[in-house]
Amino acid sequence: MTTPAYKDTQLLINNEWCDAASGKTLDVVNPATGKPIGKVAHAGIPDLDRALAAAQKGFEAWKKTPANERANIMRKAAGLLRERAADIARLLTQEQGKPFAEARVEVLAGADIIEWFADEGRRVYGRIVPSRNLAAQQQVLKEPIGPVAAFTPWNFPINQIVRKLGGALACGCSFLVKAPEETPASPAALLQAFVDAGVPPGTVGLVFGDPHEISSYLIPHPIIRKVTFTGSTPVGKQLAGMAGLHMKRATMELGGHAPVIVCEDADVALAVKAAGAAKFRNAGQVCISPTRFLVHNSIKDEFAQLMVKHAESLKLGDGLTEGTTLGPLANARRLTAMAKVLDDARKTGAKVATGGERVGTEGNFFSATVLTDVSLDADVFNNEPFGPIAAIRGFDKLEEAISEANRLPYGLAGYAFTKSIKNTHMLSQQMEVGMLWINQPATPSPEMPFGGIKDSGYGSEGGPEAMEAYLVTKAVSIMAV
Ligand code: NAD
Repeated sequence: MTTPAYKDTQLLINNEWCDAASGKTLDVVNPATGKPIGKVAHAGIPDLDRALAAAQKGFEAWKKTPANERANIMRKAAGLLRERAADIARLLTQEQGKPFAEARVEVLAGADIIEWFADEGRRVYGRIVPSRNLAAQQQVLKEPIGPVAAFTPWNFPINQIVRKLGGALACGCSFLVKAPEETPASPAALLQAFVDAGVPPGTVGLVFGDPHEISSYLIPHPIIRKVTFTGSTPVGKQLAGMAGLHMKRATMELGGHAPVIVCEDADVALAVKAAGAAKFRNAGQVCISPTRFLVHNSIKDEFAQLMVKHAESLKLGDGLTEGTTLGPLANARRLTAMAKVLDDARKTGAKVATGGERVGTEGNFFSATVLTDVSLDADVFNNEPFGPIAAIRGFDKLEEAISEANRLPYGLAGYAFTKSIKNTHMLSQQMEVGMLWINQPATPSPEMPFGGIKDSGYGSEGGPEAMEAYLVTKAVSIMAV
């Protein structure tokens, strides 16, 4: 596979690419080699002021663009993404590490999500409410909330933006995103598609820099009316606090620690195939990644053996090398985190059935790992591992497994495998999660809600709920005189 030259990434303000006023940049590193491959512009306050003024101007133009024209432009951008999918995926793999095939699927899924939101934007209906006075008409109007500030992470550089951008643009909001400094080129290619599709200047904007400095400036700023963040729970809580203080509407898509309950009557091969594929996708750096495997004691050994076989069948390597199914971790911080998790798991009595080690000394390669007999006190069963580690422990009664699943403060995704309708009802009624997949891998689609409860955040990034996040309601009563 030919590797395209990795270009430096600038800021996007007013539909123009520019350097930071200070000229400051940060290095971008390829996680497969540990070597710098390019630079990204580091915005300062003067750049943010220009980006905010552009977002205000963009909002004035975009909200006055009829919904069907907005939909046409969004559909055109989605088409451009499809045409450019292979090139964008190569950039994504170089900066993030995931296998090329996964990167390409991410770009194509992004196009699909944009198209769904484009169409949904044509159906933002208000309502007429019967009035107590027949001479009056009562209208409920839905209007775009205003310029949006978005903060997105490095694990899905395209899709974490698309889930926010789709709803915002479909509702008529302008959208300023601080995308991840570690993976800047694929977000830039995404926004380029919108510029090429014809969004008015300022409708979309892209900045990078110091995450804390940028969020502390944008969230309180009077131009910004809505905040949306995807990332860790501690950072989400800080940003939600700031948004609350300044009365800004917020959507928070935060960490999870997804339980997988495999019941006594489950199809074990299906459970391993579905949950195993989901576990090691993107090297486990996924907020809905299955993490706590709770398996009925009667099938635990069989399940663990098949999971080990699955883990050992994966091909670890550079995401651009043909046949790679497990790429490097996205940054060196994750290697340190994995070493800590493994050290703690060993100390608390877990058995390492396969993997458990860094591979090589160049790049951030970590082997697909399966742990068995994991203690409830182990770090891996309490804090989101965000890496290629499947941690397994047994249970005897389904009630016990559900109570363990609900024990943590997180409530994002959950999975279960069973053939019993009784178990299915019990699981769907009692699991404290925002999304539950039974007898299947995660299949997030734009038309279904996507989001968590408890410490996993609030708000949704799919379905009609995702549109509501970018709308305000105005009650208008008109008396005929
Ligand atoms: P981190 O918590 O420092 O950063 C997570 C993301 O938040 C990054 O994209 C970062 O740029 C951004 N961020 C950090 N501080 C910010 C601030 N003050 N204002 C605005 N944005 C800010 O940690 P990390 O090392 O990048 O990732 C570690 C943990 O983050 C993982 O273990 C995982 O739990 C979580 N994470 C979750 C997701 C997700 O999809 N929910 C994605 C990436 C990381």
